[in-house]
Amino acid sequence: MRDNPFFSPPAVPSLEADDAVAPPAMVPPGVSRVPSAGVATPTQLHFARSGVITPEMAYVAAVEGCDPALVRSEVAAGRAIIPANIHHLRLQPMVIGKAFCCKINANIGNSALRSDRGVELEKLHTAVHHGSDTVMDLSTGADIHAIRQGIIDHSPVPIGTVPIYEALELVPKVEDLTIDHYLEVLERQAAQGVDYFTIHAGVLAEHVPLTTHRITGIVSRGGAIMAQWMTHHQEQNPLYTHFDEILEVCARHDASISLGDGLRPGCLADASDAAQFAELDTLGELTLRCWHREVQVMIEGPGHVPFDQIAMNVQRQQEVCREAPFYVLGPLVTDVAPGYDHITSCIGATMAGFAGAAMLCYVTPKEHLGLPDLEDVKQGVIAYRIAAHAADVALHRPGAREWDDALSRARFAFDWEEQFRLAMDPQTARAFHDASLPAEGYKSAKFCSMCGPKFCSMRITQDVRRIAGAPLISPALPSEQAHAPAQTPPVNGRA
Ligand code: SF4
Repeated sequence: MRDNPFFSPPAVPSLEADDAVAPPAMVPPGVSRVPSAGVATPTQLHFARSGVITPEMAYVAAVEGCDPALVRSEVAAGRAIIPANIHHLRLQPMVIGKAFCCKINANIGNSALRSDRGVELEKLHTAVHHGSDTVMDLSTGADIHAIRQGIIDHSPVPIGTVPIYEALELVPKVEDLTIDHYLEVLERQAAQGVDYFTIHAGVLAEHVPLTTHRITGIVSRGGAIMAQWMTHHQEQNPLYTHFDEILEVCARHDASISLGDGLRPGCLADASDAAQFAELDTLGELTLRCWHREVQVMIEGPGHVPFDQIAMNVQRQQEVCREAPFYVLGPLVTDVAPGYDHITSCIGATMAGFAGAAMLCYVTPKEHLGLPDLEDVKQGVIAYRIAAHAADVALHRPGAREWDDALSRARFAFDWEEQFRLAMDPQTARAFHDASLPAEGYKSAKFCSMCGPKFCSMRITQDVRRIAGAPLISPALPSEQAHAPAQTPPVNGRA
C-alpha cells in the first residue's frame, strides 16, 4: 500500500516507542527497535501472543491503513508475519499476510560467473525504488558475506537469504557439508540482520524417489543440494532432523523462516505431483514447530503451474499450513516463452494473489536464460506490482481501486501530467507519450498519437456529452474522496 500514490495513510509512527514525532524507520545505530532487553524470544510472534502491540506492528498498521490490533491478532494467529530481524536497523517494517495488501519480492545477488558488489547494490536500489516490498540476496559467487553486509546496511526493506549457499562455501563438495557448517552460517547471518531465511527442511529422503518421473527433476537449488546430500549419505535431511536448533537461532534474532519448496515443479508437466504435495505435508508439520517456538514462518510455493491448478494449490497450502502466509514464485502458466517469463509468471502470480497468496516472488525476463541485470530487475518488479495490485483490486482491498479510478478520470480529462504522476512507472508513461508528441503543447491536447485528433473516442464522447448537456467528467466516488491525498503525494515508489 505504501507504493500506491493515491492512498494517503495516517502519519506513520516512529519505531521508537517513546518518541512519537521522530521521523519513521531510521533509528540510531545500536538501538534495538523492539523492547527485547531480557526477553529470550524477542519475536513479533511472541509479543503478539503476549498481547503487545510493538512499534513494528503500529508502523505497518499505519502503512496499511488498518487498526494495529488487527496486525497484532493476525501475527499472533500465524496468518501474518513481520520479517524484522532486531539487528536490521535501517528497516522500515512491512507485513506479509492475506489480511493485508499483496506484497512482492525481488531476487538479486551474484553468481560464480558474474560478481560485483556495486552492481548488486544498484539492483537493490532499483528494486526498492520501483516498489519491491522485500529483497532476497541469492548470491552464490565470491564475497557473499561482504555483499550481504552492504545490502543489509543499505536496505529499508526486509532482506531474505538462502543460508545453504554460504554454507557450501565452507566445504569443497556438497557431501562434506555438516549441520555445524549450516548452523554457523545461520548464526552469522542472523546476527548480521537477515530478516528471513529460506530453509529447505521439508525435502525428506523418502520424497526424492517421487521425482524420478519428472521432466525437469528438482529445480530448486536448495532442494537439489539436499537431495544430493541425502542420496550420498543415505540419511535424512539434516535441516529436518536439526530443525529445533535452527529454530533457536531464529528465535534469538527474530529472523523469520520461509520454508522452502525444494521439490517445487520446474515445468507444467511436473506441477501438483506426489513429490510436491508430500513436501507440502512436511511443511505443514514444520509450520506448527515454528509456531510452538514462537518463530514467524511463511511457506514458499511453486513455480510452474497450469492456470487452472493455481487456486487449488493455494487452497491446499492454506489448509495444510493452517493459513500461514503463502509466498509463491510466479507461478509461470506456460513454459514456451523464455525471454518473457516476467509475463508468463505474473499471469499466474495474479491468480495466486487473488486466491490468497500473501507475497509474490518476481520472475525477470532473464529467467532460465541468465543473471538479471538492472533493466531486468525493473521489468520484473513492475510486472509483479501490476500482479499484486490487480489482486488487491479484485479482493477489494482498501485504497486499491481508487488509484485506478483516479488515473482513469485523469485520462478521460486529458490531464496528461496527472496521468503520468499516477502511473505505476511515471517515467516510462511520459517517455512513451513524448516519443511521438514531444512538444509541451501536446500535454493539453485532447488526443494522443494512437488514434489522432479526429478519431479520439474519448474526445468524441466529451462532444456527445456536451451536445446532450450531460456533465463532461463523472464525479469522484465518496471512496475516492476519502482516500484522496491532501497534498501531492510522492511520484512513486521510494527514494
Ligand atoms: S487518441 Fe485514442 S488512445 Fe489517445 S487519448 Fe484519445 S482515445 Fe485514448
